[in-house]
Amino acid sequence: MDYNRFISKHSQARKPSAIRAISSYLHQKGMISLGAGQPNPNTFPFAGMAITLKTGEKIEVDEELFSRSLSYDLTPGLPHLTKWLSELQKIEHKPPIEYDLSVGVGSQDLLTKAFDMLLDSGDSLLIEKPTYTGCLSFLKTLNCDLADIDTDAEGIVPESLESMLANWPESNPSGKKDQPRPRCLYTIPSGSNPTGVSATLERKQAVYKICQKYDVLIIEDDAYYYLQFSNERIPSYLSLDVDGRVLRFDSMSKILSAGLRLGWVTGPKILLDRINIHTMVTNLQPSGIPQVMAYALLEKWEHDGFFKHVIEVSNFYRQKRDEFIECLDRRMKGRAEWTVPTAGMFVWIRLLGGIKDSYDLIMKKALKENVLAIPGVAFMPHEEKTEYVRVSYSNVSKENMDEALRRLAKVVDQEAEA
Ligand code: PMP
Repeated sequence: MDYNRFISKHSQARKPSAIRAISSYLHQKGMISLGAGQPNPNTFPFAGMAITLKTGEKIEVDEELFSRSLSYDLTPGLPHLTKWLSELQKIEHKPPIEYDLSVGVGSQDLLTKAFDMLLDSGDSLLIEKPTYTGCLSFLKTLNCDLADIDTDAEGIVPESLESMLANWPESNPSGKKDQPRPRCLYTIPSGSNPTGVSATLERKQAVYKICQKYDVLIIEDDAYYYLQFSNERIPSYLSLDVDGRVLRFDSMSKILSAGLRLGWVTGPKILLDRINIHTMVTNLQPSGIPQVMAYALLEKWEHDGFFKHVIEVSNFYRQKRDEFIECLDRRMKGRAEWTVPTAGMFVWIRLLGGIKDSYDLIMKKALKENVLAIPGVAFMPHEEKTEYVRVSYSNVSKENMDEALRRLAKVVDQEAEA
């Protein structure tokens, strides 16, 4: 593939930092470094790290690794961790082509760097409607146009994607007729934030085919991949990627800890090199301590232990989902409609009763009743008014789920009567 056509002008212009460029030689056997300005770790007060798991088990972090984590290290991440994660990708996704991997400060760090790499000001991006508000907020700063694609209970509607691309530029929602066709598609295939919907394999295959036809790069944001409720996880876009047109984003936030701020990107080396250069000139590298902390655990668990853990996590959320749907059925039937989530922690509910805009209802009336939810407008690419609301069941007890929905039902009834 010709990746140059995907890379924005400012990303092409970005040069590696001279100091960072030599950092990979630092750990070479026999190397005497008079180079990088590494502070002397003997002056650091920390001597070691031990982690205690909820099982009571204690893991002593390897002394040498801990000491290494206190210093500046490689831009794409601690090699022990990137190797472990690369093996994980191989086992889980069996990518058909060669791929590279870099760690970031959460997947958000890497996603924003990828958008920056792929979009020049004024470019169009294919985006699901609705989509993750955290990325929308960043995309607005890039001054790009959003070409929104319909989604339903099985993910992206392929006809909507095909029609947008085939009829470009007439289909361009911005109305600009001289705009080049979008080169990238941003998608959240598992347990989408905000809809809780997962794209089926058939849909992914259809979307991939369309992306091949129009030479579109797929930005696969799969933060909820391991929170799928089906017995077998739906294969990722990465696992279908025979061309090298997928940049895949994973996150430890929902499976180990959100505060660790660890995510990783997998994809073609040329693109990852550009992301690494961005890291070199901004935050230099992902933090060392979270990386060794996660690695100490993952090394101990091995891949089998990791898979066992993520199944426990997804079972936890499945039970929460079931409890929440039970409360939704009891409290909101006739007042709202929803699709039962197949992964993750969100339900996207459509308020009935003639409500056209959920904003005031949620931000004023529901708040007054002491119940928090997110009005759907936050997830709309063009901030369109909507009757949808995003609710999350991840951190609520069964009693509180029921009580929250009772309060929400009361507000909806009042609104419908008004
Ligand atoms: N993508 C989606 C769809 C998300 O919901 C989130 C977190 N809310 C992220 C990315 C960012 O996750 P991380 O903590 O890995 O930065």
